[in-house]
Order: sequence, then C-alpha cells, then structure tokens
Amino acid sequence: MEGQDEKTKPQEEASNNNEVMQEPVEEQRLLVPDVLPVLPMRDIVVFPYMILPLFVGRESSITAVNESLGKDRLILLSAQKDVTMEEPGPDDIYDIGTVAMIMRMLKLPDGRLKILVQGLMRAKVLECVSEKPFHRLKIETIEEPKEVEKTLELEALMRNIKQGIETSIGMGKVLAPDIMVVLESMEHPGRYADLVASNIGLPVAQAQEILTLTDIHNRLMKVNELMQKEIELLTVQQKIASQAKGEMEKTQREYFLREQLKAIRQELGETDEREAEIQEFREKIEKAEMPEEAQKEAINQLGRLERMHPDAMEASMLRTYLEWFVEIPWSIGTKDSLDIKNGKEILDEDHYDLDKVKDRILEHLSVLKLNPDRKGPILCFVGPPGVGKTSLGKSIARAMGRKFMRMSLGGVRDEAEIRGHRRTYVGALPGRIVQGMRQVGTNNPVFMLDEIDKLGTDFRGDPASALLEVLDPEQNNSFRDHYINLEYDLSKVFFITTANMIEPIPPALQDRMETLMLPGYTTEEKVQIALNFLLPRQLEENGITAGDLKITDKAIELVITHYTREAGVRNLERNLGSLCRKVARRIAEGESGPFTINRNGVHRYLGPPQFLPDIEVEEDQVGVATGLAWTPAGGEVLRVETTIMKGKGNLIITGHIGDVMKESAQAALSYARGVSTKFNVPENFLEKHDIHVHVPAGAIPKDGPSAGITMLTSLISAMADIPVRKDVAMTGEITLRGRILPIGGLKEKSLAALRVGIQTVIAPERNKKDLEDIPTNLRRKINFIFVKDMDKVLEIALKDGKSVRRKKNTAKKKVATKSSGRRRAPSVGAGKN
Ligand code: ADP
Repeated sequence: MEGQDEKTKPQEEASNNNEVMQEPVEEQRLLVPDVLPVLPMRDIVVFPYMILPLFVGRESSITAVNESLGKDRLILLSAQKDVTMEEPGPDDIYDIGTVAMIMRMLKLPDGRLKILVQGLMRAKVLECVSEKPFHRLKIETIEEPKEVEKTLELEALMRNIKQGIETSIGMGKVLAPDIMVVLESMEHPGRYADLVASNIGLPVAQAQEILTLTDIHNRLMKVNELMQKEIELLTVQQKIASQAKGEMEKTQREYFLREQLKAIRQELGETDEREAEIQEFREKIEKAEMPEEAQKEAINQLGRLERMHPDAMEASMLRTYLEWFVEIPWSIGTKDSLDIKNGKEILDEDHYDLDKVKDRILEHLSVLKLNPDRKGPILCFVGPPGVGKTSLGKSIARAMGRKFMRMSLGGVRDEAEIRGHRRTYVGALPGRIVQGMRQVGTNNPVFMLDEIDKLGTDFRGDPASALLEVLDPEQNNSFRDHYINLEYDLSKVFFITTANMIEPIPPALQDRMETLMLPGYTTEEKVQIALNFLLPRQLEENGITAGDLKITDKAIELVITHYTREAGVRNLERNLGSLCRKVARRIAEGESGPFTINRNGVHRYLGPPQFLPDIEVEEDQVGVATGLAWTPAGGEVLRVETTIMKGKGNLIITGHIGDVMKESAQAALSYARGVSTKFNVPENFLEKHDIHVHVPAGAIPKDGPSAGITMLTSLISAMADIPVRKDVAMTGEITLRGRILPIGGLKEKSLAALRVGIQTVIAPERNKKDLEDIPTNLRRKINFIFVKDMDKVLEIALKDGKSVRRKKNTAKKKVATKSSGRRRAPSVGAGKN
C-alpha cells in the first residue's frame, strides 16, 4: 500500500528536495517493457517528470518494488479509484497511470520501504498478466511529443494559468516557493500543465482527469478551468473569513468593554447588584413553572435585559415586565376541597337563609367533584347592595379551599383596563384580570368581578367584549393580555360576577352567565341576620362579649326601621357596630356591665332616628295614587299626584323623572282619553284643561315603566273626580291598550308598602310566580291582587262613592249627575287578612 501514510505531502517534500522541477535523469529514450508491476497509489496521482518519495508497506507491493529494483527499476504507478480499499485489484485502479523509475530505496526499521520515484511517461493499462505475488500489467506507453508548436491560444492559456497562480498566491494559497521560477522557464505546454496540476493540491479525481487528457490543448484548458475555480473558491473563503473576523472583533470589543465596565463597577462597589438581579430573575423564572413558550419568552427577555445598559429606559421597562411575568401564578394553585357536607356547613355558618343560592353553589361543587374538567357556568349574583353577594363569594372560596379575589368593574370604560396596554406604551401595565391574578398568587382563585352592570363603553374600546373572552369557558384557557402578550390560562379560575340590576348588563355577557337573585331582606329576616351574624361579629371586633351587651329584638327592629332604609344589611351592621363601640367605651371608662339596650334606649346611643316612616296618607284623595318603586337600595313608596287646571290640553310632568317614566305618563294619558267617557268625563274635557302630573320628592331622580298604572289611576281619578283608595298600592307597566306588563322587585316593593301600612298591593298577573320568593309571613300580611288589565285596577283602586269635585265645584254638578248610572268599582280584595 502506497501513499502518504505518514501525512507526508509528497509534492512539498519533493520540492524541498529541490528535485521536483528537474528534468528526468534519463533524458535518453527508455526502453519500457510491455509488462510492468503495478504500485496502486492511495491518495496521489503521480505525473511524468515528478519526483517524490513514497512509502511502501504492503507485502505484495514490497515484492513488486524489489523485483523492479532487481531488473530495470521501472514500475507503474496508478491511483486507486476508492481510497479506502485495502487490496485493490486491476479493476480498482484507473487505467491511465504513470511509468516511474525507482531512484532510491531505503528500508525502514518497521519493515516498510521508503522509495524515491520519478515519473517518466503516461501509460495505458491493457490487461492483467499475472496476479501473484503482485499484479503484473500489460501496458502501452503514451509518448508526449517532444516539441509542440506553441499556438497563440496555448500561449494565452499558459499565461492565464500563470496569472491564476500568482493571484492565488496573493490570496494566501501556499505553493512551492520556487514554482514561479520553474514555470518561467518551462516551455513545453504539456509539461507546463502537468507541473501546475501536480502542484496546486488537486483532489485525486481531478488530478486523474488531467492525467487522462493526452491532448495537450484540452489538458491546458482543464487546468486553467480548475485554476479559475480555485480562485473563486479562495475569494469566497476570504470573504467568509473576513466576516467571521469582523464578528469576532465586535464581540471581542464588547466583551472587552464590558469587562472594563465590570472592573470600574467593582472599583465603585456596585458590582454585584446587576448580576444578582439577573440571577434572581433566573431563579424566579425557574420556580414559576411556566409553560414552555412562556419560559422561552422570559429567558429571551432576560437575555435582552442582561445585554442592555442597566440605566437605559428600556431596561427599566423590561425589568417591570419581567417582574410581572415571573409573579403571575402560571401553575401554582391550591388544592380544592370538595367535601359537600363541609361546604354546606361553611355556607350556613356565614349566611342566614339564601337557600336557593346556597343550593346552587353546592350543586356546582358537586359537579366539580365528579367531573373536575367540566367548565362550569359563570355565576352572577344580582341584588341590591349589602345583601351578602361579596360575603357569599368569600364563603365559597373558604368552602372550596381556594383563595378569594375581588375586583370592581364599576366605571371601567376602556378595554385596556381589562386586557392591559401594549408594552410599547410608556407606563403600560397588564389589565385588571392579570393584576388580580398576580395579587392573589394562585391560578385557581374564586375571582369576583363586582358591578358588572356598571361597565361603560366609549371610544377606547368595549370592555365588555374583553370580558366576554375572560368569562367564556371555551376560550379563557388562552386569554391574552396585551401587556404580557402570551396566552394565559384562566380556565381554572372560578369567576363570579355581581350586579345590582340585570338590565344594564350587556346581553352578550348576560348570556354567558347564570343569574342568581338575592332580593332584599324583610325586617324579620334582618333581625335574624343581626342577632346571629352581625352582632356577634361586631361584638368581637369591638372587644366585648355577649355577656357585656344585650340588645333586645325590639331594639334591633327599631334600628332597622328608624335608622336604616336599605334592602341589605350594611347600614344595619354599621349601626350595630356603633352601638357596640359606644358600650365598649363605657366599659373602657370603668363602668361595669352588663348593658342592655332596649327599644327606648336606642336613641341614647344612636341619636334621633334618621328615617321616619313614610307619612301615611290621611284620607282618600282625588288624583293621588300610591305606586311602588324599586331602587338599588330596596323598595320605595311613590306617590303620583295629578291636578287639573283650566287650559288648552297640555300635559305637564314634574318631579325629576326620566324619559321612560315621561313616556309612560304620555301613554297613560292616551289610554285615559280613550276610556274617560266611561267615567262620565265630558268629551272635550281635555281641550279645555291642562293636566299636571307630579311625583313628589322632586330631588330624587326616578325612572322606569313600572309606575304606569299608578299614573293612569291618578289621571283618571283627577279627570273623573273620584278619590283613590289610600290603602292600595300598585305597580305595573301599561300598554296603550290598557294591558299590564310585569315588573321586577316584587318582594322589595311589598316591603315598602308594608312600611307605610298599606296591605293591598296590585301587581301584574305575570308576576304571580314571584310570590314564591316572598317569605310566608310577608305573604300573610299583604293581600296581593294580580291583574291583567287596567279596568281591573281602576275597579279596585278608585273609591266607591262620592266625587269630591262634585261637592266643591257646582259648575261640574251636571257632569256628576250624569254619572249616576256609572259602574261602581266593587271593593275587590280590599279587606285585610
Ligand atoms: P354586597 O356584596 O351584596 O353589597 P356584602 O357581601 O358586602 O354585600 O354584605 C354586607 C354585609 O352583610 C356583610 O358583612 C355580610 O356578611 C352581611 N350579610 C349579608 N347577607 C347576609 C346573610 N344572609 N347572612 C349573614 N350575613 C349577611
């Protein structure tokens, strides 16, 4: 096996010996035999006239060399087609080789031979004569003409090649140092080509290709082509190298500067702050157990921060961002406790009654227990303030073993408040949802969104649509806050919303939620709540015991009726707190208890009553009807007064009332016109009179359609001069045809009626179902009359009997007399229970 076993570069070594460029020793014509032993060359192609050392290792090759040395010293050198082949046969070597003369031989201590050979001429392999102990091949030499006429083209090619070599040396290619000198004196174009080919370090296949080209012109062309390719390659190589160098210089420079900066910082004693910060972030990122994508982003941003100047404005923005990023609960959650019995106990422990709501919550927990992956509906607690919506939310969290978070949506008008601002804005922050999540620190809290009915919209986008995304169980697992700008999973959060009224909630949101009504409490209920929940809490908060202070039921009732007016119990609790505080002070000042507060003692502590019961109407009056209204703070009694004056048929409406109520007054008047003749009102009555409808307490804004039947009753009463019964209160919307539409808040309204001692309540037929929500004791005290149309209302509400106007106004006597045959309203259901 022959070749550069020891990584010797034969060409170079040869040139070092200054032998490569010499003319062959034996210029005289050689008699080359037809058959020659072959020496397969592994990784080199030997050209004629080339002198180089070879290492011969294999047994068969050593025998071949020895035989040749014993004869004419000639041998055939031919390259292997496959370098890896250990025992190449005649078919595994190229069929064009070079006949060479062994000039010297040296036996190496390891048994191998080192020989110096000189290429003589090309030869073509014809056939294999014998295989053992080495291959003996029959060959045919290919003689090169001694003189070749140098045509213009050959000359040009040779020059071109020379130039190429010069250029490549200029570009840093390492060649034999004196190659240029030799080329200068080389006249023969064929040998010129061979010389160049053997010196520019061609791969075996390419070198063999040149060896194969016997035509000198073609050979030069090929060498030229390879030379040009080589130059192209060198150009690209140089470009890459210089680019790499540029990069390296830049990073090196940066590194160097940074090191300097570090040194300066160290001098100033500020060193580790920054590194510590980065390290801290890194630890937090690892601890946060974010999803892969989020972690990648965090690490990315941390890398940016690391590279930035620490005082740069962007760095501080990035720092804030990272702080948010690592502190959102990505995967930290609490374990649910879904023991239904325990849940019920907790809910009962915190709240009186509210059975319907509690049942619904327990159902929710049960479903969650059986199917943890089920995406439950969003609950919406609707009711007036202070009825326990928030505290229920807290109890739910306690019952489930989750954390509780509450966030008000009141006045939110900007989508960005829900979803955050993009990070590019100065001072940008995440939206309220993400803020809440960070604050609560777990990914599965009970998250209460208060006052969802007070969401606004304006030009900055619609917060409701962002909320939709938050509340929709189908898509809130990939909620995207503009600031965080990555998907965040909200699907484990138990969302509860609260509202005072359903109507203002955007319909799309209503659709996503299951509403649970929490109407106001009756006085009896409030007494129970006070005794069992509020008072014990206030006692404890003020550091006194039940032994120190006793408040009688009657006293509590007085506080409820005379010191508060509300559907819930918030002010009641405040007043009880105030009682406890005052007693606490007396104890602290040295008085000894126990203290008892009874009905008469309340004013000593709380001062004069703040709310006197509504003044009861003393007698049945013409044009004054009693309506019932619903306000967020509970039910109210609403009087509607109508006066008729001489005029031209104008309708005046006063009392700070809203558009809906005004329209319902118009509708009432239109209906009244239609039916007035039934009550013996002269036909042209309205043309000669103005009508003034007033709703007292003019400072308080009022609106809503439910005063419709009250207004109409008041109008007809005034027009027909028939008094309205003072012991009847009513609520209901009317249509132009006198039909009555349902209203809301029947329970609160009934409570208000009872407060002023009215025990007959007229309500729309379709509200009959609401009776279910009204406690039995309240139902027992009130006589509900459900009506479908206006005729029935008038029948009940208008006083049977004399017309006041008739008495006062003799001019109207005729009208009244005419009415003698009119239908009188029987006193349906007017009796007390
Ligand atoms: P909301 O959120 O509906 O405005 P809160 O939850 O703040 O009302 O309730 C006000 C106070 O009234 C709380 O201290 C709450 O515990 C108490 N409360 C309301 N309803 C009940 C009830 N049914 N039983 C016991 N306490 C109640």
